[in-house]
Amino acid sequence: MQDIRVRAHAKINLYLDVVGKREDGYHNLETIFHSIGLHDDVIIRKQETKGITVHCEHPAVPCDSSNLAHRAAQCLSDEVGGIGGITIDICKRIPVAAGLAGGSANAAAVLHGVNQLFELGLTQDLLMHLGSQLGADVPFCLHGGAALGLGIGERLTRLPALSDISLLLLNPGIEVSTASVFKKLNFSLTKRKQAGIIIKTYVEKSDVVGIGENLYNCLEMPVFSEYPEVGVLKDELSTQAGCYGALMSGSGATVFAIVYNRDAAHRSESHFKSRVSFCTSTVTSPVGVYVY
Ligand code: ATP
Repeated sequence: MQDIRVRAHAKINLYLDVVGKREDGYHNLETIFHSIGLHDDVIIRKQETKGITVHCEHPAVPCDSSNLAHRAAQCLSDEVGGIGGITIDICKRIPVAAGLAGGSANAAAVLHGVNQLFELGLTQDLLMHLGSQLGADVPFCLHGGAALGLGIGERLTRLPALSDISLLLLNPGIEVSTASVFKKLNFSLTKRKQAGIIIKTYVEKSDVVGIGENLYNCLEMPVFSEYPEVGVLKDELSTQAGCYGALMSGSGATVFAIVYNRDAAHRSESHFKSRVSFCTSTVTSPVGVYVY
């Protein structure tokens, strides 16, 4: 095998609370992740010359050694004592710096793809451990489906994935730095632990009405105070016909709605399309990475 093609799926957070500050500067979270159908394509090819080369046409994505896909390949190479030369082509569809874990998904696709392409035989647990050194969302992107995430998001407990639930995603074109959002967070106002437990029960029962009513993200407060238009967009989305509930994903600025069905998603899509820089309908996905 000379190449491998991997779909790198984005994620949303159905629930996100910050439950503690750590000595290393990170925050401990309680979050519920779900993979979604929106994905980048990551094509990994063996090449004659040594080294790692990344191609991506998106202007906001670096192609040097700071690219998360590049870092993932380097990390695997270090782990096994060299893997020879590879090129990585990224076809970007996931908006960048948008709370959808696009970079982390690319890193997960490389860890999974390179392991298969070079028949390295590394276990999923080891790949997830390596992934956690690259970014807090990488282990979940490898895991995929639905999971409760604790710690910085790397301690995962599998939940049953929601099957084919329709979603609408909107991004007003604002790139948000995750670090700056955490800096602005008023930690004392974010205690909603009980709500996290409630929404987990609804996910386990696949009860979309209950999920829609209990969506929560404590990072909305600092993002909406700096970018009020994101809050306005979320409010408008949540009052659309056929919407079970709406929320900002991760550190934003993408907002998503859980909707009755694909028709409702498409109707809202036409309503918003001309006003935001990114608008797409998709569904929940049972996987985070997928070789095709
Ligand atoms: P996070 O919450 O981890 O910041 P995000 O989904 O909000 O995730 P990403 O799309 O991962 O944000 O982008 C965050 C930053 O990472 C951007 O500034 C981007 O330039 C950089 N980056 C590095 N590699 C990649 C990649 N392969 N894809 C997208 N962004 C990348």
